Amino acid sequence: MNTINAKAFGTIAADASLEEMTIARREVLAKDIEIEILYCGVCHSDLHTARNDWGGTQYPAVPGHEIVGRVTKVGSEVTKLKVGDLAGVGCLVDSCHTCDSCKNDLEQYCLNGFTGTYNGRDIHLGGHTYGGYSQKVVVDEHFVLKVPANLNLAAVAPLLCAGITTWSPLKHWNVGKGSKVAVVGLGGLGHMAIKLAKGLGAEVTLFSRTPDKEKDALELGADAVVISTDNNQMNAVSGKFDLIIDTVPYVHDVNPYVATLSISGTLVLVGYLGGLEPILNTVPMILGRKSVAGSVIGGIAETQEMLDFCGKHNIVSEIEIIKMQEINEAYERMLKSDVRYRFVIDMASLK
Ligand code: NAP
Ligand code: ZN
Ligand code: ZN
Repeated sequence: MNTINAKAFGTIAADASLEEMTIARREVLAKDIEIEILYCGVCHSDLHTARNDWGGTQYPAVPGHEIVGRVTKVGSEVTKLKVGDLAGVGCLVDSCHTCDSCKNDLEQYCLNGFTGTYNGRDIHLGGHTYGGYSQKVVVDEHFVLKVPANLNLAAVAPLLCAGITTWSPLKHWNVGKGSKVAVVGLGGLGHMAIKLAKGLGAEVTLFSRTPDKEKDALELGADAVVISTDNNQMNAVSGKFDLIIDTVPYVHDVNPYVATLSISGTLVLVGYLGGLEPILNTVPMILGRKSVAGSVIGGIAETQEMLDFCGKHNIVSEIEIIKMQEINEAYERMLKSDVRYRFVIDMASLK
């Protein structure tokens, strides 16, 4: 297959820094769109992948799945977008299209395994996929999103992962006017969860370990902030929430949050992958018909729905723009929860 070269930033090992490299992208096939990447958001999953936190990272690893840019080439059968249009790409670049999940617009739950934008199996070139820390990407039009033109483009990028990952559970659990929603952790996902839940009409509370984020949370639209290390504050919201979205990336005690669910309430884990410690106590779940659930990103139709909603309600991410060369420092700051509230790479810095 014909390929083109693109400059990228990636890492060759879990303990190495990210540095400039050259990667191959396929020449557009009939249904493909080639995008010049203008901005790419920095998700905590990028860091987990670069450092092999979850195991299974293939190197060289080029992270990045919050991509926005401009269409530079389209295949002969492409109808969704044309050269010059704005385009977005999130966490998915392929799936089987034939399984029950794919047929129901749930490509993220493809029964044959979706292809991640990075570290997925590249069905065209072999090897693994490379993400958005790059000048260009070539993607099947089914997985390319239309970007609302009225929004700040750089601040749209994080919607492609942080936005859809929090939107999908809000919609699945029917959040609307009058819902009582809580969000655990004010980072990239957490701040989008607040904005989107507010946009849907919910009353929103933030749980945070970081008292100096309280003012920001209220400005982002939260109605209240509970400092999770303060037992009095935690007790005051006992039995309150219909839905809790927990974005914490590392193992943590979920039991104190289950106590704040209302009868039949659900806590959705979207951050931490793995066994819970301390173990989950079923007593409050059984006696309150409470659920602890999980959710991964969202389907393509749902991602477009979220982008259109954001266009209509003027919702974007709060961002700090960085140069590609500042990515290693940005990862260190992310580990210290020092992101207000999403780093976005200006890809012009890679030229
Ligand atoms: P982030 O920007 O680093 O935010 C995470 C927030 O969690 C922090 O700002 C902090 O908030 C809190 N936190 C961090 N470490 C903590 C700890 N040890 N204990 C308690 N709280 C802690 O990360 P992100 O990009 O939002 O991603 C969050 C997680 O979601 C990551 O693990 C990422 O891989 C995962 N993710 C999952 C999906 C999915 O589809 N399910 C999609 C995207 C990302 P406070 O300072 O307010 O406490
Ligand atoms: Zn992500
Ligand atoms: Zn499928």
